Order: sequence, then C-alpha cells, then structure tokens
Amino acid sequence: MQIDEDETPAMAAPGSEAQWREPPVIRRLEESVVNRIAAGEVVQRPASAVKELVENSLDAGATSISVVVKDGGLKLIQVSDNGHGIRYEDLPILCERHTTSKLTSFEDLQTIKSMGFRGEALASMTYVGHVTVTTITDGQLHGYRVSYRDGVMEHEPKPCAAVKGTQIMVENLFYNMVARRKTLQNASDDYPKIVDLISRFAIYHTNVSFTCRKHGASKADVSTVTSASRLDSIKIVYGISIARELMEIGTSDSNPTRSVFEMDGYISNANYVAKKTTMILFINDRLVECTPLKRAIEVAYSATLPKASKPFIFMSIRLPPEHVDVNVHPTKREVSFLNQESLVNTIQDAVESKLMSSNNTRTFHTQTLTSTAMTHMVVKKDTQENFSSVAKSQKVPVNKMVRTDWRDPSGRMHAYLQDKPGSQNEKNSDLASVRNAIRLRRNPKEALDLTSVQELVREIDSKVHPGLHDIVKNCIYVGLADESFALLQHNTHLYLVNVVNVSKELMYQQVIRRFGNFNAMQLSEPAPLLELLMMALKDEDLDSTGDENDDFRKKIAEMNTDLLMKKAELLDEYFSIHIDEQQNLTRLPVVLDQHTPDMDHVPEFLLTLGYLDQ
Ligand code: ADP
Ligand code: MG
Repeated sequence: MQIDEDETPAMAAPGSEAQWREPPVIRRLEESVVNRIAAGEVVQRPASAVKELVENSLDAGATSISVVVKDGGLKLIQVSDNGHGIRYEDLPILCERHTTSKLTSFEDLQTIKSMGFRGEALASMTYVGHVTVTTITDGQLHGYRVSYRDGVMEHEPKPCAAVKGTQIMVENLFYNMVARRKTLQNASDDYPKIVDLISRFAIYHTNVSFTCRKHGASKADVSTVTSASRLDSIKIVYGISIARELMEIGTSDSNPTRSVFEMDGYISNANYVAKKTTMILFINDRLVECTPLKRAIEVAYSATLPKASKPFIFMSIRLPPEHVDVNVHPTKREVSFLNQESLVNTIQDAVESKLMSSNNTRTFHTQTLTSTAMTHMVVKKDTQENFSSVAKSQKVPVNKMVRTDWRDPSGRMHAYLQDKPGSQNEKNSDLASVRNAIRLRRNPKEALDLTSVQELVREIDSKVHPGLHDIVKNCIYVGLADESFALLQHNTHLYLVNVVNVSKELMYQQVIRRFGNFNAMQLSEPAPLLELLMMALKDEDLDSTGDENDDFRKKIAEMNTDLLMKKAELLDEYFSIHIDEQQNLTRLPVVLDQHTPDMDHVPEFLLTLGYLDQ
C-alpha cells in the first residue's frame, strides 16, 4: 500500500451551506499504515536517517564512523562503525518499533545520556526503505548479516565475515512514499546536508574519526582524525580561514532561580564574513537546534559589529539532565529546557561582551548628534578611547529594550530595521536625553506653515485605523519570520507583519512630519555628486558592457548635477540634503532617529531625486 502524503480531506467550499450528512464511520488504521506514517515523521529525509544511524554508532561507543551516500541518500545510505555490535539474540527484534537497549522505565528518560531511547529509528527505516544490518560482537569468530522489511527480518541472520562493529545499509529510502520521494528528488540533493551533519558531529566528537563520501568517490568530503583539539578539528572540517577568526567563549550560571548551566564554545570575530549563520549547538552531547538562542546571538552580532555579517558559532551547553526535555520532537532535534529565556539572555550577554572586549582594532562607524560617519567612504577607525566608551554605554543592548520594556517606543521600530553600529552609540546613551537634544537642535521653524504639507499630515491622521494603531503602539516584537516578515504579539494575538511595507510607510510619514525640520547627519567626507550619479547610472545598465555609453552617462550625470545644484537651496531647506558649492553632497536628513540608512543606496537616491525634480 502506498501513502500519498499530499492527500487532504475533502472540504466544503467556504461560504457554502453546511449540509447535514451521515457521519463517516471511524475505522482503526491498519498497523502497517500507522507504522509508515510514524516512520515518515522520524525519518523525514535522508539526512535525518543518517543522523539516527550515526547517533546509534556513537551510542555503541564507536571511535570510527564512516558514511557512504548514493544519490543524495535515496539510493543508499551506509553507516559503518567499530562499536560494540549487536547481539545475535537481539537481531530478530532489532527493527521492531519501540525496541531499545537504552531505556527501560519512563523515569530513565530524565537522566538519559544516550542519543537514542525511543527505539524507533531502525524500525522506521525498515518501513520506508530496505535495511540490511551486518554486525559482529566482541569475541565472535564471524558476524551476521540480515535484512529487514516493515520491522521484521526477511530471513534468518546469515553468518558472514565482518570487521569489528556494525554496518547498517539503508537502500531505496521512501520507495513506498511517492510524494515524499518526488519532493526529495525535485529538491536539491540531500548530500550537502549530510556532509554538513557529519561535519558538525566531527567537530564535537574529537575522539571519534569520521569520514563521509559519495558512493564510488575516492575522496572523502569529510575526514577527521581522533584526538585533535576542538579548534584543530574545526580547522580540518571548516578550513583554516574560519578557524583563524574564532574566539573561545564560555560562561555559566549556577543560580537555580535563573538557570543552571555551563557553556563553552567558539564564536567568530569581527573579521569573519558570511551571509548565513552557522550555529552548531550541542546540549548535553546532543546535536540540537534552539532557534531562540540562535536568534539572540544573531541580534548580539548585528548590534555590536559594524559589518552585517552573520556569525559562526560552535557551542556546547551542559544542563542538569532533568532540566532538558529531549522528548519533545520525534527526531529529538529541537529540545526544550527549563529557564530557557534566562539561559538565552546569559549567553547573549556573554557573546556581546566577548565581541566588545575582544577586538580593539576593528572599524567602528561613529554617529554623534552633530555628525555622522557611516559608509565605506566615511568609516572611521576607532581608538581605544572611543571603544571603551562604546563598551560602557552598551550596557543595555537595544534588543533587550525590545523585550523588557515593551512600552518604550524606542523598542518598536528599530527591531525591524537592521541595526547599524553607526546608530549604536546613540542607542546606548539614554534615549530620552538623545531625543530631547534632537528636539532642541531642531530648527524651530514650523514646517506646518506649508498648507500642502499640512494637508498630507491631515490625510495621514484621518486614515489612522484605531485598532491597528493600538496594535502597532502596544505590540511586543517577537522575532523575524524571514527577510520580510516579523512576528508581533498584541494581547493574546500573534501578527505577521510585512516589515518592508511597514518601514516604507513609516519612512514616508516621518518625512512628511519632519518636512522642513530634519535633523541632519554630516558625511565625514564630502561626496562628489557627479561621481555618485555616474555610479548610479552604471548600476542601472549593468548589461551594457562597452565604454561607448560612458559619454552618454556623463552627459546625464552632468545634467542631473546641474539640476540638483539649482535646487540645492530648496533641498537643504526642506529636506536637509545639503550640497556644497563644489557640487559635493555633505549632509543627509535623519528620517528616523537611531537608524542609519544604507549608504550603498545614496547614488541611486540622488539619481531618483534628479528624476523627481524634472
Ligand atoms: P534507539 O537508538 O532509540 O534505542 P534505534 O532504533 O535507533 O533505537 O536502535 C535500536 C537498538 O539497536 C539500539 O537500542 C541499539 O541497542 C541497537 N543498535 C542500533 N544501531 C546500533 C549500532 N550501530 N551498534 C550497536 N547497536 C546498535
Ligand atoms: Mg537510535
């Protein structure tokens, strides 16, 4: 029998009158169906099968584990170890559901040290693939080989030659789950995921040597030796260029009212550059994921370091076993534990202070109330002095404000916006005093003199939706769902908010309200208009290669420069966009306090400004 996972029950069309029908008969599912459904949960994809097999090998005390994969794991997954092997007498029930050597009573779960305990992994694989086990235990002259289908042996175990330990082969994974096989085949190969997984195991278990290769390949993609130090194994697996940029970190807490744990690990420094976070997390020896922790560390990075780089994190956390619930997920991937929030906060603090104390040569962007420097063109090297003042004033990181005092308006918007360290100095100081200072500095001239602007303000005010307004005003920022959506909580409701759209609207309203009253940020070096415009024009038509367009571009750039020069006074007065006599851009408006715009877009901004003026 085949299961089509995409099958959904027929539903009445929305809005149609519900008709009275005979209730359908409830039947007991066939056991084979139940098992296959359950199996699909434990073994979600080839990489999850590999994880279970490797964990079994680790539980068996192996010091050498090798993985061979064919066709992304769909054709073949083979994991061989030199562990203690499986007793001949246990082979008949080895692949039955809920047979395990690791757990006897429910209470054991509280102190379980092994990776497995549910006795489901091997069984699951036999329901969705063909499993063959070859094993030999200590003192035996020969080993045994036996194949399994749907939890049972296909034949008596056959004596065979074997090397110490166990080899488990899973062939034709998901052969009987059409939909899953198709999705996996269409999606990219699972092999990179498997390599990634083995890499993670390899750097944690430095006393175990790992290899991982594609079937038929002569070279392994992961290959480690035992007894290397943690940093050495990171070097071997991830390369010297990453290992070089890592700093050791550790922290602990022993206050039972908060959290009890020990953490040690390695985190990347300010020189490390990556688009995606690599977070390798072990909790009580278990490779797991903990999204809140990952997110908190990312926030610490983006709030502390100038580059918007994502970190590389290796962390091992030890908790009292009774504080961890490893049983929350069928694949045991996500764990939950007591006092999670407190632990996350403590680790976040540790990461933050490590980042700040470790590096006094990194580049800082500075932004004070009177001047701002923030781009490639205007980066300033920090000195020890301003570094320590930053360090001191960063006691209350901005992300904490979001969480701890949700009524504080400062917490609301910059949680959505990328934290640029340029704005960091400001955030650190007392926000209220910063605001006051800004207000005082503002040109006292009333922008609302202009009726057209007044009208726009009125239009905004008249469109205020009281319900939405209250949500935005009193919401709690939960986290980013992806690049454009954030989760907000308001009372008992959770909202998904398109941050891009909200930011645009916010910026628009800010511009209208500050019209003629903008606070300005000063560029540390005047930026020549003509060059900026040329840059923008070049960016616009990337595909045209030749230089023949250069003259043409130059003409347009010159025209636009003239235009902006003509409007310079107006731009300065109303928008605080200041252009000096030498045709340089020197000042830009602060549209949103504490937010530093991305200076890469300045050329494009000027170009559109020119278009708008025409
Ligand atoms: P669990 O790991 O939760 O006990 P599994 O289905 O993964 O359940 O494995 C069932 C049992 O098979 C394990 O408890 C263990 O005794 C045995 N086993 C599985 N793989 C190996 C291995 N590589 N070496 C030795 N024993 C193994
Ligand atoms: Mg297991």
